[in-house]
Amino acid sequence: MASYLDNSVKFVAGVGEARAKLLEKELGIITIGDLLRHYPFRYIDRTKIYPIAAINEQLNSTMVQIRAKVTGVAYSGTGRKQRFSVFVADATGTAELLWFNGIKWIEKSIEVGREYIIFGKPSIFRGEMSMVHPEIESVEKAASRSVQSGMQGIYPSTEKISSSLSNKGIYTIVSNAWAKAADHIVETLPQSLLRKHRLISLREALHNIHFPQSEAMLAAAKRRLKFDELLGVQLAIQARRSDRMERNTGFMMPRVGENFNSFYNERLPFPLTGAQKRVIKEIRKDMVSHHQMNRLLQGDVGSGKTMVALMSMLLAIDNGYQACMMAPTEILARQHFATISRQTAGMNLRVAILTGASKAAERRKALEGIASGEVDILIGTHALIEDRVQFANLGYVVIDEQHRFGVEQRAKLWTKNQQPPHILVMTATPIPRTLAMTLYGDLDVSVIDELPPGRQPIRTYHYYDSARLKLWGFMHKQIALGRQIYVVYPLIKESENMDYKDLQDGFESIIRDFPQPQYQVSVCHGQMKPQDKEESMRQFKEHEADILVATSVIEVGVDVPNATVMVIESAERFGLSQLHQLRGRVGRGGEQSYCILMSGEKLSKEARQRLQAMCETNDGFRLAELDMKLRGAGDINGTQQSGEAFNLAIANPTLDAELLAEARQSAIEILADDSTLAKAENAGLKALRARHAGMQRYDFSMIS
Ligand code: ADP
Ligand code: MG
Repeated sequence: MASYLDNSVKFVAGVGEARAKLLEKELGIITIGDLLRHYPFRYIDRTKIYPIAAINEQLNSTMVQIRAKVTGVAYSGTGRKQRFSVFVADATGTAELLWFNGIKWIEKSIEVGREYIIFGKPSIFRGEMSMVHPEIESVEKAASRSVQSGMQGIYPSTEKISSSLSNKGIYTIVSNAWAKAADHIVETLPQSLLRKHRLISLREALHNIHFPQSEAMLAAAKRRLKFDELLGVQLAIQARRSDRMERNTGFMMPRVGENFNSFYNERLPFPLTGAQKRVIKEIRKDMVSHHQMNRLLQGDVGSGKTMVALMSMLLAIDNGYQACMMAPTEILARQHFATISRQTAGMNLRVAILTGASKAAERRKALEGIASGEVDILIGTHALIEDRVQFANLGYVVIDEQHRFGVEQRAKLWTKNQQPPHILVMTATPIPRTLAMTLYGDLDVSVIDELPPGRQPIRTYHYYDSARLKLWGFMHKQIALGRQIYVVYPLIKESENMDYKDLQDGFESIIRDFPQPQYQVSVCHGQMKPQDKEESMRQFKEHEADILVATSVIEVGVDVPNATVMVIESAERFGLSQLHQLRGRVGRGGEQSYCILMSGEKLSKEARQRLQAMCETNDGFRLAELDMKLRGAGDINGTQQSGEAFNLAIANPTLDAELLAEARQSAIEILADDSTLAKAENAGLKALRARHAGMQRYDFSMIS
């Protein structure tokens, strides 16, 4: 159904060819409908006028409005460096308004002695206020303009756009579009749904999101438009889920056999925690459900996810299937291989490893064993997903530290058998359940919320670089007690070379203070050859080295229970979840462990809060919450990507969790009644679903 809203935005008064191109390139706005869905992200109260004297540094860079008289103008510079200053004053103070372009046009509208309403971002320098390129309107003209509620939207923009279109410019073209389009807006939701969820009409919502008639109407408009987006996403996800359920009957794994039983009865190195038992039961239930399992396992660092992975793999093997486990790094894959080989030694079980660094013989052994069905468990890195890795009968896949993999990588494992295997993805990064569902499609979620017994909470301290001697004294003491120490340096892509230099310098000063032969210091980072990395990890694991100097490659998974100190250099450069992950490398044995956060003296407020939070709590879920607050939910763990992927302009799956739950329930009910959205009354829903279907690259739960 062609609609007026599908027309190109270039037909809107004030847009035209050139701006239409710019809008498409910068903001993805192609049609008039897209323009109307370009919602303000903030509103300012245009009835509020600030006295100049009241504008202080706290208001730096927020939009404010002043009412002031022009006292003079000045020109300076020439050519491209030209600038135009307008000096204004109100009863409380003075300010300078500055223009660097469009001068010819602006100077015409300025009259010395006249009073103006001026709207823009103040910047305060040495007590002097200035505004660059503010909006300016004579008091008379401003009075004639009608923004009923006084609230004016601030639109998302880009640098390129703002040089041709100010916020007011965007507002103007949206107004022009609205004047023409308002009568063409077709309701997308069935009436019954509007009533049930107490939603205002689409037309009212669009009107109020751009031109709020009151605070209450604006709130209602936001709620309605968020609901649309969340419903669209949920319709897509639920449809996908039922499709998956239908197409992918899961492998049936009813037997609890020889492998599982003998391991459980004879080889279990420790009693399982209650949480581990519960999760294994949840997995077992999926294995006999006739549906393919698609489960996310969240558990804090050190909570014992690997044991759950192993025992569930044994169940798959007992039922005649192969299992594989994919880890994000070489080191981690080798470690899993070592642990699992050791724990299953003596059982009638073949475990193989395959990584990018596998030598020819190891590779051949793995590939042949996997193809013939002789190998029961294959452990590796993303080398596992290469096409030449052909399983005889893959039934179960574990993906460790899943956030490290792209979705395509994970999805590829699905095609390793005619019928997709059961999939368990494990993560130590807690994400709210609702967000997980939006991000990863229709995953079921299990949580290990209990640490193995006997763990002493890790003590965390923050030292400034100036306290380095104190740190070294502490390290000497710990080594004297027979303990081992990690020293980790940040590695950030943009400044990789500098980071390696920091690590190199740090390493050299450590070996001066911890000289051979009394001390052994190993080093491990991404620029080393795989076998060298492996060798230094081995030295550390086997306690041939006292100190391991490393980049954040050791972040995930490395397990050395005798290591009790984690020193994190330039800790202010790490995010909270990464700091927490790193800290999780210690505290794995019975001894008291420590995490020392080293930082420079100069810290941003946020960095200080992060380090403080680390010192205060060991609880990963609390830190994740805090992280969300500090960074804004938009930035956490893929929320932002999910916003982009699912085309979300206004809804935020984390912050709007309640509305998401409503939308989800609603999607389930709608699809139960009309699974293909074929009914006429659901035409609008179908379009909504298409708009929010999400991109394939985030689509973990299905490959077509
Ligand atoms: P993560 O969940 O971070 O992957 P691991 O699986 O590496 O954690 O387990 C962390 C450590 O705890 C390992 O040394 C493991 O052997 C040990 N562990 C796991 N489960 C238990 C348990 N139930 N009791 C005691 N120790 C356990
Ligand atoms: Mg792990």
